Amino acid sequence: MGYSAPRGTVDILPGQSEKWIKLEQLLRTIAANYNVKEMRTPIFEHAELFNRAVGDTSDVVSKEMYTFQDKKGRYISLRPEGTSGIARAYVENKMYGLPEKLQKVYYMGPMFRYERPQNGRQRQFHQFGVEMLGVESPYVDVECMLMAVTVVEALGLQNVTLHINSLGDNESRDAYREALKDHFRDHLDELCGDCKARFEKNPLRILDCKVDAKHPAMKTAPKTIDYLSESAKNHFDKVCTLLDDLEIDYVIDTNLVRGLDYYSHTVFEIISDDPKLGAGATVGGGGRYNGLIEEIGGPATPGVGFAFGMERLLLALDDEEDEDEDGLDCYIMPLGEEAKDLAMQIIAMLRANGFTCEMDHVSRGLKGQFKSADRFNAHFSIILGEEEVKNEVVNIKCNHDKEQEVVPLENILAHIENHLSGGHEHE
Ligand code: AMP
Repeated sequence: MGYSAPRGTVDILPGQSEKWIKLEQLLRTIAANYNVKEMRTPIFEHAELFNRAVGDTSDVVSKEMYTFQDKKGRYISLRPEGTSGIARAYVENKMYGLPEKLQKVYYMGPMFRYERPQNGRQRQFHQFGVEMLGVESPYVDVECMLMAVTVVEALGLQNVTLHINSLGDNESRDAYREALKDHFRDHLDELCGDCKARFEKNPLRILDCKVDAKHPAMKTAPKTIDYLSESAKNHFDKVCTLLDDLEIDYVIDTNLVRGLDYYSHTVFEIISDDPKLGAGATVGGGGRYNGLIEEIGGPATPGVGFAFGMERLLLALDDEEDEDEDGLDCYIMPLGEEAKDLAMQIIAMLRANGFTCEMDHVSRGLKGQFKSADRFNAHFSIILGEEEVKNEVVNIKCNHDKEQEVVPLENILAHIENHLSGGHEHE
């Protein structure tokens, strides 16, 4: 009987995981640079959290969530995104009461959405996200955007543009919602069933519809930016000025609404025309969500954040030349059973001293073992045949300069250390 991985999931094998680690390390370094700390929340949460936080009219929640009942009948969902869990944990752990008002956190890990798997769409995928909670300030919006831009630039992606827009505060959004309804009312019959429902519940989502994306009324729809209240406009103007001062390229994209309920004020997306991703690919996006924490039962708390799809970030790394593969320090090559016992002693000693080592476990001849030493890109091959065991020595070959030497057992460590530090004199 054979098993296959569930549809829409992939295995990350040795040889690929190195790229993931490299990406993760880069992201962690940038996070440290911005004083953003890691936060780890559960992979599953109560379904109700996502219904509430992401909104039950969103596709993510209404169509794509993996929800099931546990043995006690509780509705549990695999997380489809990271912000809701962070927000829940922020409230539950009373992080709003911490002396440092601005809490900056990041997460990375798997997310789950029941989507039709296709190029770039999986059912289990990974996101790296950042949330900055507790302070309502255009400076924090810009810090968030700057960090997102830093990530894509550090990955070497070309032709990156920051697209920004403002949805404004509640007052602006109410006015805008009405304007949208007025606009779409005459076209309701021509829109899909989902959009008809959105018209009443959340007309902003109509602009995000994939089915009706090409409807002419989409192009002529009113723009959020024309409905901003004075304070919302001031906030947005300051964001733009700060970006100008920092010489960050951006375009104001009035079609950008990011339909999730929790967004307000600034929203943004990072779009790259890098050929590695295909023209106009969205690498990630985010925005301000001042209503979210209150929505899930916490005190009114502003927040701003973004999320990147890590599979997409990885594509950016994919073409990069593999720099020197990290090789092993030593490959131990025993010939015969007795030699294997001694090899085990030697490998334990070398590892305890911090060297990366492997030994032959399949009792091959010299040729096969040398092939492995080669594949592992081992700096040293340590050969032990019957003779060596008898004489309590090993044969150490440096695979870089091809020098080979007979070394007494007690001198193995000194020999290797001496060789690595550049000294080649006989000990
Ligand atoms: P979202 O949370 O929908 O704004 O998505 C943020 C980013 O996550 C997107 O720009 C994608 O890079 C990535 N993403 C979202 N859904 C998927 C998926 N099903 N498979 C792979 N990546 C995804």
